[in-house]
Amino acid sequence: MTDTQTNEVIQAQVAVLGAGPGGYTAAFRAADLGLKTVLIERYPSLGGVCLNVGCIPSKALLHTAAILNEAKEISHMGVSFGAPQIDLEQMRVGKQAVVNKLTGGLAALAKQRKVQLVRGVGQFVSSNRIAVQGKNGTQQVSFDHCIIACGSSAVKIPGFPNEDPRLMDSTDALELADIPARMLVIGGGIIGLEMATVYSALGSQIDIVELQPGLIPGCDRDLVKPLERRLKKQLNRIMLETKVSQISPQKDGLKVSFEGKQAPAQAELYDRVLVAVGRSPNGHKINAAAAGIQVDERGFIPVDQHMRTNVPKIYAIGDVVGNPMLAHKATHEAKVAAEVIAGLPALFDPLTIPSVAYTDPEVAWMGLTETEAQAKGIAYDKGVFPWAASGRALGIGREEGITKLLFDPETKRILGAGIVGVNAGELIGEAVLALEMGADAEDIGLSIHPHPTLCETLGLAAEMAEGSITDLLPPKKR
Ligand code: NAD
Repeated sequence: MTDTQTNEVIQAQVAVLGAGPGGYTAAFRAADLGLKTVLIERYPSLGGVCLNVGCIPSKALLHTAAILNEAKEISHMGVSFGAPQIDLEQMRVGKQAVVNKLTGGLAALAKQRKVQLVRGVGQFVSSNRIAVQGKNGTQQVSFDHCIIACGSSAVKIPGFPNEDPRLMDSTDALELADIPARMLVIGGGIIGLEMATVYSALGSQIDIVELQPGLIPGCDRDLVKPLERRLKKQLNRIMLETKVSQISPQKDGLKVSFEGKQAPAQAELYDRVLVAVGRSPNGHKINAAAAGIQVDERGFIPVDQHMRTNVPKIYAIGDVVGNPMLAHKATHEAKVAAEVIAGLPALFDPLTIPSVAYTDPEVAWMGLTETEAQAKGIAYDKGVFPWAASGRALGIGREEGITKLLFDPETKRILGAGIVGVNAGELIGEAVLALEMGADAEDIGLSIHPHPTLCETLGLAAEMAEGSITDLLPPKKR
């Protein structure tokens, strides 16, 4: 990894601020297009939250959780394992090895591309210069073009004892300091449920408190229901339409008071509390005003479809430009920004950005949701295939899944898809491709899916919409 600190001003054709999935992709693409590129990052390794303390370590832990659950549930097939022996230190080592492999790979790729890495906290000093505060002083970087990829931070709730190490954000929770006997998760969104899945499999007794009337707000209720049913069996308590009113640190735990519809009458004591109530953009942390860059009151930086900010030659991508805050959005925006700078005719104009909760079962959706269609009065046809009729789902003992496809009633083209079930996150990719390629129900139904697989359920859901299904009775025509 090229790691620079000089007294001279570094001249860059492209300076990229932040080396998360958006930032390193932008820098690598810019370098591949022949531009002299400098990548500024405050942390020792590349990859940002996603690789270091987010998507990747959480997936390594979720894989372990899935195996723990599967081992417990396979007894109906005549195999029993004893109680698992959990070596927490080895779990941490294993998780870190996955992270190191990826971040090490990125460092090598940066070097091979001659992307110059400047380590430290970057702040704008003008519309063509960034000062990077590093360990050994300040490094000035002057640029022709800049791509801001400074990401987002976990939201903290004011008034909570945020300095108490027992009150965690997702980064703390992924460190696996211990397996708390009792843990509260504040926020029943994606992070909250993924971490609840991990800690519950490790043996913690988990309560979840969620402000809204359901888990994963924004996702169709029929998709959340099978997950909720399973969580209710695994977790101690799910409190909906409820919030935490106070947390007071005690010697033997955090004492939490609740208010709302399902609030317990008494305060409860927890060994640890995880706050997972969303992330906020880092737009106010880079002295954007010195460059004249517009930042809205929440911290988002507005951009056009070419990822340009209001300041010519300064671009922004990833979490800091808006929701959804997802790595796969950032990487695509990154390529657009680098290509536009290189003079290529690029535009960020996807038909959809898929969402996945890597819970057990997983929940994945893309395109139009039924909830959105109903709210906006958009007409749609629906094909739903219940996994109870899938030989593969039955074979793996997971028949609770559903694959749902929405189609335009006129053109029959796919509008949206939602899947709940194991590997839903892998399966949704086919629906994204179908939407981007303008596939209709017949295209999907007539595409021969391998049997017996879970991906077959997409073809069968299309057959449900077409009325050509034979594995179930065809639904009555509306
Ligand atoms: P989120 O927005 O997905 O969920 C936050 C939840 O907290 C919501 O359900 C909200 O209603 C609830 N909430 C808010 N304030 C509350 C309060 N005071 N008390 C109780 N509940 C409250 O946010 P997140 O789960 O923190 O994730 C943050 C971001 O990271 C999201 O943009 C998410 O998409 C992204 N992320 C994605 C993945 C993935 O793709 N698998 C994984 C982790 C994070």
